[in-house]
Amino acid sequence: MFTRQKVLLRTFVRWNSSITLSREVFRIAIVGSGPAGFYTAHHLLQKCPSNYKLSIDFYERLPAPYGLSRYGVAPDHPEVKNCEEFLDNLMTAHEVSLVNRDGHTVRFFGNVEVGKEVSLKQLESTYHSVVLSYGCANIDNRMNIPGGDLPAVITARQFVNWYNCHPDSYDKVRHFRPPPLSGVKNVTIIGNGNVALDVARVLLANPVDHWASTDISRSALNLLENSGVKNVNIVARRGFFESAFSNKEIRELLELSNSKKIRFIPIDPNVMQPMHESELTRVEKRRFGIFKKYSNLSIENPDKSWSLQYLKSPVEFIVDESNPELLSKTIFRRNRLHHDELTKEVTIVPTEEMEEIENELVILSIGYKGIPLEDFQALGISFDKRKNRVVHVEGRILENAASKHETDIPHVYKRGWYTSGWIKNGPKGVIATTMMDSFETAHNILDDLSNGVYSKVSIEAIKSLEEKLKTFNFVSWNGWLKVNKKELDDGKQIGCTRLKICDRDDMISIAHK
Ligand code: FAD
Ligand code: NAP
Repeated sequence: MFTRQKVLLRTFVRWNSSITLSREVFRIAIVGSGPAGFYTAHHLLQKCPSNYKLSIDFYERLPAPYGLSRYGVAPDHPEVKNCEEFLDNLMTAHEVSLVNRDGHTVRFFGNVEVGKEVSLKQLESTYHSVVLSYGCANIDNRMNIPGGDLPAVITARQFVNWYNCHPDSYDKVRHFRPPPLSGVKNVTIIGNGNVALDVARVLLANPVDHWASTDISRSALNLLENSGVKNVNIVARRGFFESAFSNKEIRELLELSNSKKIRFIPIDPNVMQPMHESELTRVEKRRFGIFKKYSNLSIENPDKSWSLQYLKSPVEFIVDESNPELLSKTIFRRNRLHHDELTKEVTIVPTEEMEEIENELVILSIGYKGIPLEDFQALGISFDKRKNRVVHVEGRILENAASKHETDIPHVYKRGWYTSGWIKNGPKGVIATTMMDSFETAHNILDDLSNGVYSKVSIEAIKSLEEKLKTFNFVSWNGWLKVNKKELDDGKQIGCTRLKICDRDDMISIAHK
């Protein structure tokens, strides 16, 4: 299968060396080192036939790898972060400085933002294949309603970045100012996906017993210890049966009641009523059972409480006149549901009924947002703003597809360009689905390489990019390992899993020591 095309190319086998050997090798750039990036690389290396050698370069905008596994996944879910071993293992096995078994090489260029420091055009002339795996976590998803820009209306992305030590949150100039939690009693979370539940757990669970031993940011821990939050309402625009959270995650939040200090306020029975139990799917039945169990728990004098509310869309956030850093309330419009018998879609129909919920802080957890990179237009890469993703078919990027309907046939593929992960599918899916989907992209890359479908690269362009990279303050894999070691060692000293370094400059200086 892999014998039709062979490419003779001079490559830079070792970092810091000038042109050395000539080898048959395919150069592949992966933009982003989150789960999509590293699972794509893993599959490429696993499935690449032995007569081809791959030279894979990761470009990562942050000084640390792993994407949302490090900067999204909640600190009390360390088992989820085990996926990071895939990247660790492939770096250990293929790092350029080592003589490796299979002849493939992998390099990591952390702290290098594609679209800014390195252009896509440059990548096009230096790699046979480029994979866009840069995720959907670069900007906030906000609501365009009155009060939407008030300081006490923040996004889940900002809140998550802050408690997970994301360097953007701790930027010396544009740092995130965390909400003054000591003055906040009631929080409203808009949206009820699993991110909303993570955020609620951070606000509700005991900082000392639950969070102190994790890798949560120490400044977040400090603020949580002094938090005045007593009540968290998670508000969704659709109904109970359209809830975006999954059973495992809602059970985890409900289990906080086991401490007898956190009370779940039972869901309005009217919202759960229209559906008869006999019509429920297996997953819904289980969900129903979970709620039955926890709705009947009586907890006297709870420290905190929380609720799930349905069929409400926010229409205005009202500032607290006496303290403009906070809100006084949110005004909601009540919705009713419309079930489309044909499509089975459940949509909302706004009613005239309004309702107010008292709150000092609102956290918008309405999904993350994907954006195009600079150069997309120049390169003919289309971005679907509604779906938050690059336009592609099975991971192969389409050229100039914006003016056409996505299902138009034949598609014109952009030779050598691919996408995987959230930026391929929009901001949804757990790590397991991201993995499966990245395997599809990798499979198609290998298929295309075998059929001679890849970009033409030029030795001069490679040389020029290699020279340019040397001038960057990039973080190599070895550099990252130093940061990793320091974080683990410091964590051990204070009894937590890891003491994350939040400041980008500090990370870079440790990496370069
Ligand atoms: P990302 O993980 O976002 O990785 C993209 C990478 O690209 C990042 O490292 C980013 O810095 C980098 N990048 C961005 N722009 C550029 C650029 N211009 N140049 C170079 N690099 C760039 N799934 C679970 O299974 N379990 C969980 O518990 C879980 N918790 C989650 C919690 C939160 C808050 C969120 C938002 C998601 C969670 N998920 C969870 C989902 C999971 O994180 C995603 O499925 C997965 O991370 C998507 O991988 P990705 O590589 O596509 O994107
Ligand atoms: P999500 O699951 O898509 O949930 C988004 C929520 O926002 C939904 O309730 C949605 O309501 C609501 N919403 C969207 N636009 C809205 C608007 N304009 N007004 C009001 N509400 C709006 O997204 P997410 O919570 O960000 O999670 C992203 C992905 O990461 C998911 O696949 C999730 O499973 C995964 N994740 C997994 C875990 C875990 O496994 N522990 C943890 C975190 C995240 P509608 O349904 O009505 O659109």
